[in-house]
Amino acid sequence: MAEQVFPSVPADLVQVVEQHGRAVAAGDNAAVLADFRPDRAAQLIASAALPPDLVKSELVDLRLEDSGLYAARIKYTAADGAQTVLRSRWLELPEGWRVTQVRNLPETPPRMKDTGPNEDGSDTPHWEGLRVGELRIPQCEDCANWIWPTRPICPRCHGFRVSWKAVEPTGTIFSWTRTWQLFEPEFSGHLPFVTVLAELPQAGGRRLLGVLLDADGVDPQLGQRVRAEIEAAPDGGWPVLRWRLSSDQ
Ligand SMILES: [Zn+2]
Repeated sequence: MAEQVFPSVPADLVQVVEQHGRAVAAGDNAAVLADFRPDRAAQLIASAALPPDLVKSELVDLRLEDSGLYAARIKYTAADGAQTVLRSRWLELPEGWRVTQVRNLPETPPRMKDTGPNEDGSDTPHWEGLRVGELRIPQCEDCANWIWPTRPICPRCHGFRVSWKAVEPTGTIFSWTRTWQLFEPEFSGHLPFVTVLAELPQAGGRRLLGVLLDADGVDPQLGQRVRAEIEAAPDGGWPVLRWRLSSDQ
């Protein structure tokens, strides 16, 4: 196969990246590991998810990004024809070109395995709300206090009468973080991802956590508006709430 030409990319990097792709496809773990930044090797190994029976790699894109890193897209083909694209970012160290980031494309958010109501059932109406496309938060019937996370009694007036209300599924970013590490096995193939803590003024300023969609390369600003999207479970389990940056900021 003819070598592809990537303008403005050092020729030795093209060679290194193509060799890297072939090593990944061949399952040559020692060679793959040698391409990783040593101080990030464990994180990089865990970041990407590939099928085990690869037969081919193809470097489809390699370019210099504004960050100063070179980004490569390598398409891997498995024995059954399934294709997976990984994007690796490369930097030049004294010892040579090394991978400093890697991820699966397109970006997909992780699903936590403990999705669903608490064992005590205290937040079951919230999850049932998601099933019918509503964001439900409990409110104290005595003092109108919004309660989140859920509690058996109102933390303000200690009243027992709580009712669940559907609220507009929007908020503003109070805080956010980008997760690079494989803290849970189910994160594999979904790293890095951004988690947003969104504040809901329409629910007394209560704050809800969710993964931000389409966050690859995005650094959210505090106060930016987000809108919830409810993602159905692929297996008939509980849906999850995701956040997405609103188009009207
Ligand atoms: Zn109350």
